[in-house]
Amino acid sequence: MPRPIKIKRIEALRLGLTRYYTGKTCKHGHRAERNTLSGNCSVCARKASRKWKRRNPEKVREISRKASVRQRAKWRRYRRLGLHLVARMAQRTEPKEV
Ligand SMILES: [Zn+2]
Repeated sequence: MPRPIKIKRIEALRLGLTRYYTGKTCKHGHRAERNTLSGNCSVCARKASRKWKRRNPEKVREISRKASVRQRAKWRRYRRLGLHLVARMAQRTEPKEV
């Protein structure tokens, strides 16, 4: 994978980017993109997230249950409005927001 272009955090903030990359390593030695708002290294964040998920399986289940309830409600709403086919097509063509 090619390295992302280098950009200062302040510039990323100005441009409204969610991530930035300086080429410097984080305190754990990752040379990776960082979150613009928090300044956190994305590799560290992913690791912390995995660790949290391992330790909180019941919360993970609860969160995904709520998300699927929301999803079902959304599609029910679309179907009721007759928009489900349009919405499905949009879902296929639009790239997912990062
Ligand atoms: Zn890191």
